[in-house]
Amino acid sequence: MESLESLLAIIEKYWGYKSLRPLQREAMEASLAGRDSLAVLPTGGGKSLCYQAPAVLSGRLTVVVSPLIALMKDQVDRLLSRGISAAFLNSTLDPADRRRVINGISRNEYRLIFVAPERFDEWFYHFLQNVDVRSFAIDEAHCISHWGHDFRADYRQLGELKRRFPQVSVHAFTATATPRVRDDIIAQLGLVEPAVLVGDFFRPNLTYRVLRRRGEFQDVIEAVRRRPGKAGIVYCIRRADVDDLTSLLVSAGVRAVGYHAGMGDIERTEAQDAFAARKIDVVVATVAFGMGIDRADIRYVIHAAMPKSLEHYQQETGRAGRDGQPAECILYYSGADYKLWESIIGGNDPVDAQEQLRLLSEMYRYCTTIGCRHRRLVSYFGQKWERDSCGACDVCLGEHETLSDSTITAQKIMSCVLRTGERYGAAHVIDVLLGEETEQVIERGHRDLSTFGLLADQTKPVLRAWIDQLIEQGCMRRDGEYRVLKVTPKGWRVLRSQEEAVLYDVSAQFARKRRTRRKSESSARSKRSSLPPLEKASSLLDRPRTTRKSQVPEPLDGRALALFDVLKNLRRELAEEFNVPAFMVFSDRTLREMARSRPHTREEMMKVPGVGPAKFEGYGERFLQVIRESGM
Ligand code: ADP
Ligand code: MG
Ligand code: ZN
Repeated sequence: MESLESLLAIIEKYWGYKSLRPLQREAMEASLAGRDSLAVLPTGGGKSLCYQAPAVLSGRLTVVVSPLIALMKDQVDRLLSRGISAAFLNSTLDPADRRRVINGISRNEYRLIFVAPERFDEWFYHFLQNVDVRSFAIDEAHCISHWGHDFRADYRQLGELKRRFPQVSVHAFTATATPRVRDDIIAQLGLVEPAVLVGDFFRPNLTYRVLRRRGEFQDVIEAVRRRPGKAGIVYCIRRADVDDLTSLLVSAGVRAVGYHAGMGDIERTEAQDAFAARKIDVVVATVAFGMGIDRADIRYVIHAAMPKSLEHYQQETGRAGRDGQPAECILYYSGADYKLWESIIGGNDPVDAQEQLRLLSEMYRYCTTIGCRHRRLVSYFGQKWERDSCGACDVCLGEHETLSDSTITAQKIMSCVLRTGERYGAAHVIDVLLGEETEQVIERGHRDLSTFGLLADQTKPVLRAWIDQLIEQGCMRRDGEYRVLKVTPKGWRVLRSQEEAVLYDVSAQFARKRRTRRKSESSARSKRSSLPPLEKASSLLDRPRTTRKSQVPEPLDGRALALFDVLKNLRRELAEEFNVPAFMVFSDRTLREMARSRPHTREEMMKVPGVGPAKFEGYGERFLQVIRESGM
C-alpha cells in the first residue's frame, strides 16, 4: 500500500528532508492516488521531489518530460548519487548507451527516466505501451501553451499521452502560469479531473525595486560594487552586453563570469560550476542561464535591462534568496529596451509575435506604473493579494517621492472623468485635462467643460501614469471593450475628501519629454492651470464637501524635530558610505515617523512605514543606535 507515511520515510532516507514544502504533500497525494494534477509552484519550490519520491516508493517507472537536454544528465547524476536508479534518453547518447537504457527500461530497472518531448515518436509510444509505466511527469509544462512565454511546438504532441495511456496519470509542473496558461495546460494535456495546486507566489524575503536606467552599465556596475562578495546574477538582453559588462566588472575587481548560449558547452559548464562552488560571485547572463541552478544564497538578481515578459522576470528574480534570507531584485529599464525587444520579436512568426508583444507591454507597464511590486506580480499569476503593504518593494518602502497635493490632483483627474460622463478612455480624458483642442474634444463640446485644461502644466505620459496609479489604488477602473474610465466608490470618497489618494511624482521619469514640451508651450495654458484647484474640483460634485484633512504631514514637536535633524545627518553619512542617493536609505516620511515614534528595538523599528527587512538589514542598527544615544 502506497501511503503518505511510507513516502515520508522514503524522503527522509533518500533525500534527508524532514519536512515538506508547501503543496508538496498535496502534489504527492495526487500522484499516489493516480489522479492527474497540475502543480504551479514557484521556482525553488521543490517540484522535482513531487514526482521523484512517489516514483521511488512505487518501484515502477515514471517518465519525466523535460525541455532541457543539457540538464538531464545533471538531474540523473543527482538521483544516482542518492542511490535512486534513473537514466535519460536523448540525442546526446551514442547507440550503445541508448540500447543499454532501452533494455534497462524493459527490465524495469529505472524508477525515473528523463526524455525530451521530441522523443515521442510512433516507435517510442509503441515501446512504452509494452512496459509498465506508472506515471508521466511533465516539467516546465507552460511550454505547451501559446499563451505562455516559452512555447515549444514539441510539447503540443504530449496531448497524445492521455489518449494512448488513459490508465496512466499525468502530472504537470510549472513555476509560472497565469490562470489562462493553467487552463490551457489542462486542456492541451487532456488532464482528467486534475488536482490543481497553486503555490504562494509572495516571496517576502525578496525586495523588489524598479529604476529607470541612467547610461548603459553605470547603474549596474555601481550596484554590484556596493554588494561586494555577495552572490548575484545580472541579466542582460544581448550576448554582446554580457561580454561587455563582464569585462567591465572584472576590471573593477569583481569576481564575475559571463554566461550565454553563444559560448561553448564546456565554457558554460565551467562558469556554472565555478558559481556553484563559490569561486565566482557574479554571473552576467542572458536568459539562457538559470534553469537548474543550484545555489541557494544568491543575494541579488539585477536586470541590467527589462526582460521580455513578467513570466521571465518572475522566474529570474525567483532565483534570489532561496535560502529564505533577505535578497534584492533590482530592475533597470529604459524605453529603449522595449524598442529592442519589439524589433527582436518582430522577426518571429506573426501569431507568436502578437502574443509576445502583449507580454512585452505587460512587462513595460509593470516598470512604468508605480504600485506595490509584490502585489502586481502575485496578482499577475492569479493569486489574490490580501495584504496592504508588502514592506519589501520600492513603492511600499516609500522610495518614490509623492506629490504634496496628491489628493487635489486626483480630484482634478476624476472630476474630468465624471464631467465627460464616464464614457471615455484615458486618451480622451487626458486631452481634456491638458486642454488639447483635438477633433473629438471640439466635437463633443468638451472645450467648454470646467475641467478643460485643468492640468495643462502636465504631460501626457505623466497623466497616463497618474491614471494608472489611481486605478492601482482602486479609485477608478477600466470598463468594457473600450476601457472606459469609471470612478469607484473609493474614488468618490477621495473626491469628497473623505479619503486621501497617493500620486507619485513621475516627472523625473519623463523629464526629457517635459522639457521639450515646456519650450513649445504657450503661456496661455498656464493661466488656466492656475485656477484655484480645490474649489474647481469640488464644485463639480453634487454632495457637500466634508472638512478636508490636511495634506501636510503632522508637525513634529521640538524634541522630535531635533531628532529628525540628527537622523537626516546619519542618512547623509550612510548615503555617502554606500554611494546611494539619500532617499534610497530612508525617505523623509520614514525619518519623520522615526523621529516621532523613537523606536528602540528591531520590532519597534520594523513598524515604522518604509522600514522593511532588507532596509533594516542594511541600515536599521545604525539608526537604532543613534536614537538610543540621542537619549530621547
Ligand atoms: P523547482 O523545480 O520547483 O524549482 P527543485 O525541485 O529544483 O525546485 O528544488 C529546489 C531545491 O529545494 C532543491 O535544492 C531541493 O533539493 C530542495 N528541496 C525540495 N524539497 C525540499 C524539502 N521538502 N525540504 C528541503 N529541501 C527541499
Ligand atoms: Mg524544476
Ligand atoms: Zn510593495
